[in-house]
Amino acid sequence: SFDTIDKTDPQVKAFVSYADRDLLLAQARQVDEQRAAGKELPRFAGVPIAIKDNIAVKGQPLTCGSRILENYVAPYTSTAAQRALDGGLLIVGKTNMDEFGFGSSTENSAFQPTRNPHALDRIPGGSSGGSAAAVATGMVPWALGTDTGGSVRQPAAMCGVVGFRPTYGRISRYGLVAFASSLDVIGPLAGTVEDAACLTEMIMGRDPRDSTSLPDRADLHSAPKKMRLGIPDEYMSEACQPEIQEAVQRAAQYARDLGWTVDRVSLPLTEYALYIYYVVASVEAASNLARYDGVKYGYRAAGAPNWDEMIDRSRTYGFGAEAKRRIMLGTFAASAGYQDKFYLNATKVRRKLSDEFAAAFRDFDVLLSPISPTTAWKIGEKIEDPMTMYLQDIYSVPAALAGIPALVIPSGTDNAGLPIGLQLSGPRGGDANVIAAGRALE
Ligand code: GLN
Repeated sequence: SFDTIDKTDPQVKAFVSYADRDLLLAQARQVDEQRAAGKELPRFAGVPIAIKDNIAVKGQPLTCGSRILENYVAPYTSTAAQRALDGGLLIVGKTNMDEFGFGSSTENSAFQPTRNPHALDRIPGGSSGGSAAAVATGMVPWALGTDTGGSVRQPAAMCGVVGFRPTYGRISRYGLVAFASSLDVIGPLAGTVEDAACLTEMIMGRDPRDSTSLPDRADLHSAPKKMRLGIPDEYMSEACQPEIQEAVQRAAQYARDLGWTVDRVSLPLTEYALYIYYVVASVEAASNLARYDGVKYGYRAAGAPNWDEMIDRSRTYGFGAEAKRRIMLGTFAASAGYQDKFYLNATKVRRKLSDEFAAAFRDFDVLLSPISPTTAWKIGEKIEDPMTMYLQDIYSVPAALAGIPALVIPSGTDNAGLPIGLQLSGPRGGDANVIAAGRALE
C-alpha cells in the first residue's frame, strides 16, 4: 500500500494528508503477529482505508478541501471512522475533495486538483475524487466518500470502481462536516460490490448522536433472486453519451439472460431534479457554512480593525469561488420574499419526486440507469462554467433527493478507454436488493 502510494500519489494527488506511517506499520505488524499467534481479530483487521477529508478522525487534519479549515485538526472521531477503527481498519490518510463537497470534478479543492488514474489530464469526478482515485490506483482497497448529490457515485463511475450511496440515515453523519444535512450520506468506494457491502455493514446502524440514523441493521448479504428491473426513459436521452446508453442496454440484456424482467419506466419529474437540488442543497449549505466566521474554528484574518471586517476578511480569503456562489444562491433562495417561490416550492416538488420513485418501486425491484451523462472530461474544461458543471449531476441528484439507495458498478469503457459506470437504485431501505442486483450484474 505505501509503495503504491509513493509511486502513484505524486502524480494522481488523491491524498491531502497522510497518517503517521511508522504507527500504521507497527499496527499492521501487530495484526500479523496476533493472527500468527492464533488470536481472534475482527475479520478485516489490518485492511487499509482512506477517508474523505470532511469526515473527522481525531488528531488528523479535517480541511474539507477549504482554506478556511486549512490548519484545522479534528478534536473527535466521527462514528463512521470510529466503527472502521473498531473493525480493525487502518486509516492511512485523508483524501482530496471539492471544497465542502461543492463540485463534480475535485477541481474546487483549495489545495490541488486530483487526476483521473486512467488519464492524468482528466478529472476523477467529484466531489469524492480523491477517494475514488485512491481506490482505482490500488493505493487502498477501501475508501469512504460522501454523497450529497452524487459525490460517491459519480467519481466511482469516472474512476472505474464501485461506489454506494446507502439509504439516507443508514450510516451516521456524526462527525461528517455538514454540506446539506437533509441530503448528506457517507458511502463506501471499493473494488467490488461485495467489498462495498462489507464496509457498509461495518459502519452502518443506529447512532444516538445522529437522530436521523436508521435503527435497523439491514443484512446486505441477502440471497440473489430474479428481479424486476426498470430503465427510466428520462435518463436515456440524447444528452447521454451513446457508449453509456449502450452499456445500460448491455446490462439490461444480461439481466434478461439471467431470467429477470426488464421494462421501460417513466419518471417525468426527473426534469425538475437539478433545479430542486441546487435550491435545496444551496439553502442548506448557506446555513451550514454560517459557522465559519473566523471565531470558533479555522482561519481568522489578522489585523482587521473591527469585528465585521474580521469576519468579512476571513471569509473572503477562506472560501473559494464555488463556496461563495453557493452561499449567495442559498441565502437568496431562502430570503424573505423569495422563500416561497424558491425554497418552499423546491421542497414540495422534492416530495413529489420521492413519491414518483416510490410508485415506480411498486412495479420494479431496482432501476438501472446511467450515473453521469459523460465519461471523465478534461481538467479545466468545465471549471469556468458552473452551469455546465451542475448539468453533469442530472442523473445523480434524483436518488439523493429521494433518500433512496443507489449503487454504481463499473461497466467497461468508452471508445477513448475511459471507465463507464452504471447506477442501480432501489426503494428507501432497500439497500440489500440494490447490493444483490449489483452483485449479479457486475
Ligand atoms: N456535484 C454536486 C454538487 O456540486 C454534488 C456534490 C456532492 O454530492 N457532494 O453539489
